[in-house]
Amino acid sequence: MSAQILSGKVFASQFKEEAKQEALSLKEKYNVTPGLAVIIVGSNPASKVYVANKHRTCEEIGIYSEVIEMPETTTKKELIAKIDELNNRQDIHGILVQLPLPEAIAKEEADILNAIMPIKDVDGFHPVNVGKLMTGQKDCMIPCTPHGCLKMLQAANINIDGAHAVIVGRSNIVGKPMAQLLLSQNATVTICHSHTHNLKEICQSADILVAAVGRPHFITADMIKPGATVIDVGINRIAPKKLVGDVDFDNAVEVAGAITPVPGGVGLLTIAMLMQNAITAAKLQLAK
Ligand code: NDP
Repeated sequence: MSAQILSGKVFASQFKEEAKQEALSLKEKYNVTPGLAVIIVGSNPASKVYVANKHRTCEEIGIYSEVIEMPETTTKKELIAKIDELNNRQDIHGILVQLPLPEAIAKEEADILNAIMPIKDVDGFHPVNVGKLMTGQKDCMIPCTPHGCLKMLQAANINIDGAHAVIVGRSNIVGKPMAQLLLSQNATVTICHSHTHNLKEICQSADILVAAVGRPHFITADMIKPGATVIDVGINRIAPKKLVGDVDFDNAVEVAGAITPVPGGVGLLTIAMLMQNAITAAKLQLAK
């Protein structure tokens, strides 16, 4: 039997609608328009597309959006000075530095991201927000991609409590926060990575399997427990116009109980959750 398809389009439009209503209510109650600043350094074509999408979505939701383009030659000092300026602006509630940074400053990424005030860190990458997520504090910014996955599982009524969740990938952006979020919802969590022994057997025991590896079709149908929920975070370009996930979708769909497609899955949730984080940031700043 074919799995239920968890459509990113459907859930993302629901999450964006929630954000739109919240933005409206902030305007009505406090005359505040949430503001999001996105800094892009250099001219990476994929980054430009992502930033344009973010800008367009902000306009759709009712969030003020400012895109700051800085040249490829920007130094760490110049970039941090720009972040400081935005940290001090009352009309900007969220700040995002589009990654990847140009090679010359890429190794300074941690220092650069740490310059964003935690309360404006809509990506949720600042150590203060990471620590708050880890310790279950509510007033934190949660990284958009795993947050979107969790919200989708909840909206789709997938049982998380007591389920065995296996996450393949341990990045700071996806794997680790995903594990923490599922743990916070009482899943029993296993995190796998490139040194994991018996990966296939571990995956086969998952009620919820999250793939965040970055390798096309890495998770094959024989690694999936019949009826399991499969969340494919991977985005892999295998030809100029062909994107695939980390899961061999065509075969996995015959085994899984529910599955996200690529494209049209998790990728759409990420931007919707960015909108929600911008609203959360505005609310936290209002409450201060
Ligand atoms: P990273 O490259 O940072 O992490 C990949 C993880 O996969 C690492 O933990 C690595 O293990 C693990 N891995 C690699 N090879 C294997 C293997 N053979 N067996 C088991 N584990 C392995 O990637 P990200 O987390 O940033 O991204 C993962 C994917 O998700 C990418 O395709 C990316 O494009 C996509 N992505 C999608 C987003 C969206 O909006 N949909 C947002 C962010 C990412 P180790 O730590 O040991 O090296």
